[in-house]
Amino acid sequence: MTTATASFSCPKSMTYGPCAGVHEDGRCEVAEHPCVFLDGRPRAWAGVHRPMGEPVHPEPIPLTPAGADFADVLARRQIVTSDFPIRAARRDAVVAGAAALREHVDAVLIGEPPSVRVQFPPAYRTRLLRAEGVGVWSSLNCRDRNRVALEGELAALADAGVSAVHCITGDHNRSGRRPEAMPVFDLDSTELTSIAKANGLLVSVAESPEAQPRVQRPARFAQKAAAGADLCFININSGPHIVDGFLRAVEALGTRTRAVVCVPFVVDVGSAAIMTGLDSHLMPERFIEGVLDADDPREAGIRAAVALAEQYLAVPGVAGVCMSGGAGRGLELDYARAMAEAARRLGLR
Ligand code: SF4
Repeated sequence: MTTATASFSCPKSMTYGPCAGVHEDGRCEVAEHPCVFLDGRPRAWAGVHRPMGEPVHPEPIPLTPAGADFADVLARRQIVTSDFPIRAARRDAVVAGAAALREHVDAVLIGEPPSVRVQFPPAYRTRLLRAEGVGVWSSLNCRDRNRVALEGELAALADAGVSAVHCITGDHNRSGRRPEAMPVFDLDSTELTSIAKANGLLVSVAESPEAQPRVQRPARFAQKAAAGADLCFININSGPHIVDGFLRAVEALGTRTRAVVCVPFVVDVGSAAIMTGLDSHLMPERFIEGVLDADDPREAGIRAAVALAEQYLAVPGVAGVCMSGGAGRGLELDYARAMAEAARRLGLR
C-alpha cells in the first residue's frame, strides 16, 4: 500500500507517510534511497489497509472514564506533562519516578526510545503508574507489534486507565539499541489512531514541522485528524514561530486541533548528549550551549525550559507542554526531579 516513487518502497511499509525521520536532503530514515513520500500531497485518510480485502474503518466509541477526565482537564486549562526518564523495566524505578513527578505534572509520557527500547509493556507500566497516583500518556508504536498485538495493547491500556495514548509508527529497528530485532510495521500511526478511537481512547499523534518534506507536514497531520487524532504532539523544534506557523497552516486546511509542544530538557552533559543524538530534532538557537555554559547548569536548564514553555503556551492552539529528554545512566531520578521542578514553576496545575 506504499505510495512508491521510482522502484523503492518504504522500509516501514507505511500507508500514510512520510515519517518524521526523512533526512534533510530527502533520504529515507534508514535506506539509501529517497523517501518514497516526497512528491505530491499526503495520501487522504481511507481506512486501515488490509493485505487482503478492502480497507476497514473502525467505529469510534465514547471515551473511557480516564480519557474523559483528561479531556475535561484539557477543556478547562493548559497542561504540563513530562517524559518519564527512569531505568527501564524496573518496578522500583517506576515507583521512585512516580514519587518525583506525581505532584507536578498532569501526566507522564511513557515510551520506548532508541536508547532504552526494552521496557515493561505499555499497559503494565500504566497499571504500575496509576497505582502510584500518576496520570499516564502512553506511547504505542507499530515497530514491535503486529495489528493483533496492537489491538490487545490498546484494549489493555483502556482497561488500565490510561489518560491518553500517543500513536506513533516508531523509529526503525536499525536505529537504537536493538537493530537485530525483526521490524513489524504492520500498521502505521494514522491507522493505529483509528483503532485507538475504536477502543475509547483519547489519542495524540506526533508531527515534526521542520522534518522534510516540510510542505507536507500540515496536510499529513490533517489526515491523522481525519483518522480520529484528538491532539498533536509537536516534536522538539526551533521555537514558537515554528509551532505558530504549523498550527496556522493546519487551520488553513480546515482542521482544528490542539497541540502539546515538546520542550527540550537539558541539565547536564549527559542529557545534552541524548538531546543532540536525536537527529530529527532541531532546537532553539544556543539552547543547549546556554545551559552547559552556565555556572549552575541544572538551574539554568530548569529556567531555560520554563522560559521556552511559557513562550509555547502563548501560541494560540497550544494546549500544553511536555518536558522532553533523557538522563545519563544513574542520573535518572535527579533528572526527573529537575523536570518536576520546572513543571512546578510553570504553575499550571
Ligand atoms: S523516510 Fe520514513 S516514510 Fe520515508 S521511505 Fe523512509 S521509512 Fe518510509
